[in-house]
Amino acid sequence: MNPLTSDVIIVGAGIIGAACARALASAGVGVTVIDRGTTAGGTSSACEGNLLVSDKGPGHELVLAQYAASLWRSTVTELREQLGDGFPSVEFDPKGGVVVATTAAGAGSLLGFVAGQRLAGVDARVIDASEARGLEPDLTARIEAAVYYPEDAQVQPAIATEALMASARLYGARLLENTRVLGPLLDSAGSLIGVTTPAGELRGRRVLVAAGPWSGEVAGLLGVRLPVRPRRGELLVTTRMRHRIFHKVYDADYVGAVGSDDGALQTSSVVESTGSGTVLIGSSRQLVGFDARLRVDVLSEIAAKAIRLFPFLADASVMRSYGGFRPFMPDHLPVISEDPRMPGLWYATGHEGAGIGLSVATADLILDLMLGRPTRIDAAPYSAARASLAPYLEAVA
Ligand SMILES: Cc1cc2nc3c(=O)[nH]c(=O)nc-3n(C[C@H](O)[C@H](O)[C@H](O)COP(=O)(O)OP(=O)(O)OC[C@H]3O[C@@H](n4cnc5c(N)ncnc54)[C@H](O)[C@@H]3O)c2cc1C
Repeated sequence: MNPLTSDVIIVGAGIIGAACARALASAGVGVTVIDRGTTAGGTSSACEGNLLVSDKGPGHELVLAQYAASLWRSTVTELREQLGDGFPSVEFDPKGGVVVATTAAGAGSLLGFVAGQRLAGVDARVIDASEARGLEPDLTARIEAAVYYPEDAQVQPAIATEALMASARLYGARLLENTRVLGPLLDSAGSLIGVTTPAGELRGRRVLVAAGPWSGEVAGLLGVRLPVRPRRGELLVTTRMRHRIFHKVYDADYVGAVGSDDGALQTSSVVESTGSGTVLIGSSRQLVGFDARLRVDVLSEIAAKAIRLFPFLADASVMRSYGGFRPFMPDHLPVISEDPRMPGLWYATGHEGAGIGLSVATADLILDLMLGRPTRIDAAPYSAARASLAPYLEAVA
């Protein structure tokens, strides 16, 4: 491989770029990953690490999540074998999820949602209040309905990103950090043959944009419009405590917040303990551009909802709070395909609040699509050519 030439240039060293780099490099494809910062310096280290099927209703995102769920365990085993015990654990924990409705209205919509999920193959078990408290002894007494999802799991997202990238590099991928994309590299016929950076030109047969919430900006630099926008999310982390929360536990409102495209503030309670003994309490959703200020009103609302689920948290101390930007798509589906408007330009982006979970399936799809092989699931719903995106793609940036 010429030092400045790759088969695929991946823009973005978050979990999506890292997973795609690993999949492609392990199949012998020449990959260069470039990031204007460092690996896992974007949203992939400013989030939670939920690998959820429970929050997804029947549809294409659920299909991708089920595909991903079938890959995570073996991926984690491969990473451990390849990277050895010296590499930090990705903290994969198939702990399962418990969704709780604390109002009668919430119970009605939760049970309706579950019925649809079960038809779509999700293992969703309606449990009564005493079974819920058997799983989570410190749960509120106000349980109108509860559902147990054994397929839900979690990872430590920044370490998972680092591990996928380390694995990609062992397979031969090249990583250029602190290297920003400035624009397209075009041949005399105007075809895309790479990108320009402050360090010079990088040539590649394909350019894969995996720049998370900045993907719209990067696509714009390359000359096309892509409607990815940042959707802010904030979280609280408690100090370490005795292990009192054993599953991913969230209130039934969360499902509505995930599916909504309302730009106004929405909060819902997602509570989980981590291996180190802290409790992670999420999260909010708000379209406020790239405004990274932490908002006390948002954090207070998140805390209040968490206390509704686990009253003992009223006495917990908050150690820190942080926020990130989800890569939001107007039709709530990621784009995993070539751009029909610009041959050679590919996307793996727009995963909103599920990019950690969906990363490994996204990478598998990208690999099969780039190699021209049949894909394990129908890739058309994630194509940039899908009808629901057409109104947003018409204009050139
Ligand atoms: C509060 C919160 C909670 C979340 N919880 C979960 C969860 O529990 N489970 C889950 O699955 N998902 C969750 N998500 C969503 C998840 O974090 C994202 O979907 C995922 O991290 C996106 O990964 P990415 O690789 O696409 O983007 P990123 O991790 O943001 O990576 C993009 C990279 O592109 C680089 N870049 C940008 N512009 C350029 C340029 N011009 N040139 C070169 N490089 C560039 C950036 O530096 C960055 O490193 C959450 C998100 C938030 C905000």
